[in-house]
Amino acid sequence: MRSEFDYPCIFLWKLMYRLKSEEASVIPYEEVAARLSTDIKTGLSWKEAEIRQKLYDFNEFIVRKQQSLWSKYFEQFKNPLILLLLASAVVSISVQQFDDAFSITAAIFIVVTVAFIQEYKSEKSLEELNKLVPPKCTCLREGNSETFLARNLVVGDIVLLSIGDRVPADIRLIEAVDLAIDESSFTGETEPCLKTTAPIVIKGNGVSHMKNLAFMGTLVRCGYGRGIVINTGISSEFGEVFKMMQEEDSPKTPLQRSMDSLGKQLSFYSFGIIGFIMFLGWIQGKPILKMFNIGVSLAVAAIPEGLPIVVTVTLALGVIRMAKKKVIVKKLPTVETLGCVNIICSDKTGTLTKNEMTVTTIITSELYHAELTGVGYNSKGQCNYIGQLDSNDEPMINNQLHDTTVQINAVKRVLEVGCICNNADVIGGHLRGQPTEGSLIVAAQKLDMYGVREKYHRVQEVAFNSDQKMMIVKCIAKFCTTGDEKFFVKGAIERVLNSCTRYSLNDNLVPMTADKKARFLREAQVMGHKGLRVLATAYGNKMEDLVFVGMVGILDPPRPGAAEVIRTLYGSGVQIKMLTGDSEETACAIASRLGLYAFGNTALSGEEIDRMNEETLQVKIPASTVFYRVSPSHKLKIVKALQKNGNIVGMTGDGVNDGVALKKADIGIAMGKNGTDVCKEAADMILVEDDFSTIMAAIEEGKGLYHNIQNFVRFQLSTSIAALTLIALSTLMRIPNPLNAMQILWINIIMDGPPAQSLGVEPVDNDVLKQPPRNVKHPMITKDLILNVLLSAGIIITGTLFIFMKEMSDNHVTPRDTTMTFTCFVFFDMFNALSCRSQIKSVFTIGLFSNKPFLFAVGGSIIGQIFRYQ
Ligand code: ATP
Repeated sequence: MRSEFDYPCIFLWKLMYRLKSEEASVIPYEEVAARLSTDIKTGLSWKEAEIRQKLYDFNEFIVRKQQSLWSKYFEQFKNPLILLLLASAVVSISVQQFDDAFSITAAIFIVVTVAFIQEYKSEKSLEELNKLVPPKCTCLREGNSETFLARNLVVGDIVLLSIGDRVPADIRLIEAVDLAIDESSFTGETEPCLKTTAPIVIKGNGVSHMKNLAFMGTLVRCGYGRGIVINTGISSEFGEVFKMMQEEDSPKTPLQRSMDSLGKQLSFYSFGIIGFIMFLGWIQGKPILKMFNIGVSLAVAAIPEGLPIVVTVTLALGVIRMAKKKVIVKKLPTVETLGCVNIICSDKTGTLTKNEMTVTTIITSELYHAELTGVGYNSKGQCNYIGQLDSNDEPMINNQLHDTTVQINAVKRVLEVGCICNNADVIGGHLRGQPTEGSLIVAAQKLDMYGVREKYHRVQEVAFNSDQKMMIVKCIAKFCTTGDEKFFVKGAIERVLNSCTRYSLNDNLVPMTADKKARFLREAQVMGHKGLRVLATAYGNKMEDLVFVGMVGILDPPRPGAAEVIRTLYGSGVQIKMLTGDSEETACAIASRLGLYAFGNTALSGEEIDRMNEETLQVKIPASTVFYRVSPSHKLKIVKALQKNGNIVGMTGDGVNDGVALKKADIGIAMGKNGTDVCKEAADMILVEDDFSTIMAAIEEGKGLYHNIQNFVRFQLSTSIAALTLIALSTLMRIPNPLNAMQILWINIIMDGPPAQSLGVEPVDNDVLKQPPRNVKHPMITKDLILNVLLSAGIIITGTLFIFMKEMSDNHVTPRDTTMTFTCFVFFDMFNALSCRSQIKSVFTIGLFSNKPFLFAVGGSIIGQIFRYQ
């Protein structure tokens, strides 16, 4: 039989067929699948997907149509200062001063080219930023679920959605289990929309009525589902929003805005002074044309119009450097705030610890104690049965108590529940799923228990979440004829014990007493004191009537180097607070090892926070370094209290519900590996490897960048002031102008061009990193900075004027005199640039050769200077 592939036209038509959202929502999903030639069970084949990809665009938004480089170049001429320069060239030609006209024209081209390159570089680096967090998706291809970049999705693909995911394209749902999607980015509706799969009978307006579609860019808040991709990229509903967003320019960072206003203020004063100089020159009878040329050149040179752009380039380059250190900063303003952060609230698991879980201890409900050896996700290791823990209140049963077989069975019962209530797989040493769950599978393998989960049909699952701190599954045993449903539960011990009415005592079930509960909790505390994470297991026919079977202690060692990072951060005035869902004992044990919990520190629980009002929390919070059994709502309260105390807070998060706290924090930090899309969306910064030490790298980079920006502002301001004052003074003193128009323009190139920019890439100095966090309210232009600027400008002016006066002592100004003066100015300014490399250290301490771009820029300027003829 011939296949569709043999009829290219039909095949192509089918592939190019587009289904509108409205249409897809009113027909059954089987028909959608048929129209889009896809199989809902297996998805597309790789070959088909490849062909479709060639026909449709990638599932991404094409960045704004690129303006041609030439038109961008000519756009620079629209700058009023350049137009003034052009006018001055025209005036020179009209009075037949071709020399001047030529020089000014050459200068215009150099100034325009430098500005163009700067702007181009800034745009390119900003574009790079957008590519840093490519969204991923999970999709069925040839019957297997595969995770790949969402840009490679095509129409007809079957996409799997789970809690925390960002919907990667427009999708017609074919399965929706408790699926609630946050569509606030479209509808403004904050309540998530509950989804279904049935065709829509009554049509409405807008996207909100299409309850069987999931739209690109929206976020899965609850449940799971799957569906057929009906539209991708710019053809999706989000594409329309995106087109509108394209029209809007992205807002500037506070620093960029303050640089803009600083530039405006400087322009205002400079124009005033230049006007005054020209007026004075005119009164003194100096040639009007010369005064005009000098005035215009001075305007170009003295006005630091390049300042905002140098700031942008510096920030963007810093962000790209951070990406190399595995920290992705999503928005430029974050970089400025980084240097101000004085408190970091960090998750424990995976951020401060390795998130490599190993079950090391098992205590059964009979209080049998077993220890497991071996680490990592492989079955190497064995179970050593230590015996029964001292238990006076325990009745002896059949003298069998210490029989190893009985102990083995009891231990296996704990792990059996742990494996059934589990979604992880460990195959060939590779873990798929959560590390906590993987550790239970590995522990079972050490006892030769394989395929435990496969003995049951899962009817229902209540996934683990950090509010509930439990996972529940309802199952039917595959080989059970009665078809009875059974619950299997694992989770935080207090929560599990709350639902237990009985406990397992060898093969008997005994009623749970208050004493017994207290005894189990005591054992859990002992494990917690050793830094182990405790997970209890239970089963039963009803959720209110569970049988407790025991608990496991899971080892998750602190990340190597985390303690040193914490010490360094403390040294630089940044406090760390540890927030965890784990118990008090586990949290405090780990915190002590990390140097976070010492004498004088306190630990606060989620429950205690709930009982406190805002004011009490504000009072208690400074001394508390450990927060245990906390859920996302507590994180929000903690951020608010810290901010009210005047702190600048960085907060890490990974779960779906962490989004609000991340948004509220001054810097929301999401986990790249274990974090959900929801939380990455809300965050300002993403730690690619979930590694705490990278936060320090980011803070250091933030501090360094601000320091560097301050340095080039100092350089630009001092050069500007020196040039202006020099001409103003010479006019006031009725002496000839020490610099001609061309020379002033050359100074502008040095000031706005490569030497200034290279100050922005100065390697971060260790002492700057040790400085305490900057106060956000402090302006960039401080008194010290102004003093520094005036001092540098004073030195340049005095030196240059001195040479000029000496050279023209014969009362005759020759080109040699101005060249000498000019060279003197440039060299003074180059030394000024050298001293601007650090605010606190001499250039010899920071190393003359430690900033290569600076050496090239200054070397280039000096060579340029040598080749200038006058
Ligand atoms: P973090 O420090 O990143 O907040 P955490 O691991 O300390 O994370 P949670 O993940 O909220 O905090 O875990 C809290 C408790 O919930 C754990 O002590 C454990 O008893 C239980 N728990 C953790 N993972 C699971 C799971 N997959 N299934 C059932 N219970 C779990």
